[in-house]
Amino acid sequence: MITKYSSLGVIHIHTKFSDGSGDINAISLAAKKAGLDWIIVSDHNDFSVEEGIYNGVFVIKGEEISPDIGYHTLAFDINEKISHSENPTENIENVHKQGGFCFAAHPDESDSRKNSNKPIKWLDKKVVPDGIEVWNWFSDWANRFNSRDIFHIAYAFLFRKKLIRGIEPQTRMWWDRINNEMTEIFPAIAGSDAHALKISNYLIPVTVFPYEYCFKTAANLIFTDEPLSSDFQTAKKQVLQAIKQGNNILLNRKKCKKHNEVSLKVKNDSTSAFCGDKINLDANTELRLNLPQKADISLYLDGNEIKYEKTDKFFHNITEKGKYRIEVYNGKTPVLYTNPILVV
Ligand SMILES: [Zn+2]
Ligand SMILES: [Zn+2]
Repeated sequence: MITKYSSLGVIHIHTKFSDGSGDINAISLAAKKAGLDWIIVSDHNDFSVEEGIYNGVFVIKGEEISPDIGYHTLAFDINEKISHSENPTENIENVHKQGGFCFAAHPDESDSRKNSNKPIKWLDKKVVPDGIEVWNWFSDWANRFNSRDIFHIAYAFLFRKKLIRGIEPQTRMWWDRINNEMTEIFPAIAGSDAHALKISNYLIPVTVFPYEYCFKTAANLIFTDEPLSSDFQTAKKQVLQAIKQGNNILLNRKKCKKHNEVSLKVKNDSTSAFCGDKINLDANTELRLNLPQKADISLYLDGNEIKYEKTDKFFHNITEKGKYRIEVYNGKTPVLYTNPILVV
């Protein structure tokens, strides 16, 4: 039996080196207060942050390659800054040249937004990176923020989490389509896009979405074979490998506060697997998901919903090969998404 260890982190964070408001000391302190084990910062076309252990949190740096035309690309495991090209394929190739990997950021921001936050999109879906940020918390909020309605503005800031709806349908279709075309798992992450923007139009300057708040929303619960090492370079490798393989659950911490009580397992007669893994089909292959509280759980096989149940203990006897993944909602609000598990 394989024992896996979980750790919690947030991906896609902006610092003072691009359009975020905090330095790495303040950001890592917010991460510590929010109970995170690791964070990945990704400034727009910048690679200046010094990575390492800050306030007991592993701070890993990436870059958000940000061309003018869209195609924001989250680059991981690179060694030096990538100068952005307006050709997204070139950006992907440049990441690979450094031995890194990259995810499409917020690919489907809405064109029908009722605010001045211009949508940034992944225009041609035939350009395929190594994975997708299928859920970006700030884009999700901004897609539904109506700055033309004074009552809505107050609501949207006081009850920020109520605007959140999760993965956009087009993004889900893209993710499933590539998974159906590929033999291996095409992984997904949840991104925060934390900026902690400061607005000073009022008497008292206001920080919109402070880092600590952002760190308690969209997070990634990763699973590793060993506990995260206390050595930075080893821990960094563990985190990045888990993300690259899809060994993570995308979590809405506002709806799932007890992440330690989330467990996912597929097992057969000889071994067990987590999301992002591959496992052989035999007569006793089964899938279990346990949650801290009851929620609406849907099981997908190769992109098609095959089972729904409102429960905190989900069980399914697997009799078919394919890619299995789970989506959990509380009504309209996302609770978590798993990466696919490949049953062969
Ligand atoms: Zn972006
Ligand atoms: Zn961003």
